[in-house]
Amino acid sequence: KERTLAMIKPDGVSGNYTEEIKRIIVEASFDIAKEMLTQLDKETASAFYDEHSSRSFFPDLVTYMTSGPVLVMILEKTNAVSDWRGLIGPTDAQKAKISHPHSIRALCGTDLQRNCVHGSDSRSSAEREIKFFFEDVVSG
Ligand code: ATP
Repeated sequence: KERTLAMIKPDGVSGNYTEEIKRIIVEASFDIAKEMLTQLDKETASAFYDEHSSRSFFPDLVTYMTSGPVLVMILEKTNAVSDWRGLIGPTDAQKAKISHPHSIRALCGTDLQRNCVHGSDSRSSAEREIKFFFEDVVSG
């Protein structure tokens, strides 16, 4: 089986979408191997999105990601990485509502930034992100 890192971002948690998203996860035959509700600080959010650190939207992204608690999960199933990316839909939630109306971002996201969920984009980022949250700084 494959693992991926899923996250319900602050807008998803504060909008009370956690239970509905978990229902979708379980119905899609993922196992939730681990989960952790945590408040990201500036340093942790910046490190998680380090690949975007030179982008103009980065300061706003860090403010968004630190605006409330997030739920981080390790999801397991065959093809977990691409199946979870498929379920969440495109990055821009506004576009998702039109092109992927049944996606999770269409359900709980707002726009290009506030898209309510994260999913690793490859097997290698999945392993790196799982290590980051469950074997590194946050969990000590
Ligand atoms: P994630 O990595 O969170 O699953 P993604 O892989 O779909 O999202 P990335 O391109 O890695 O998208 O961007 C990371 C996050 O940065 C996005 O989910 C979104 O919250 C924010 N973001 C990306 N592009 C923009 C942009 N042009 N303007 C504002 N925010 C953006």
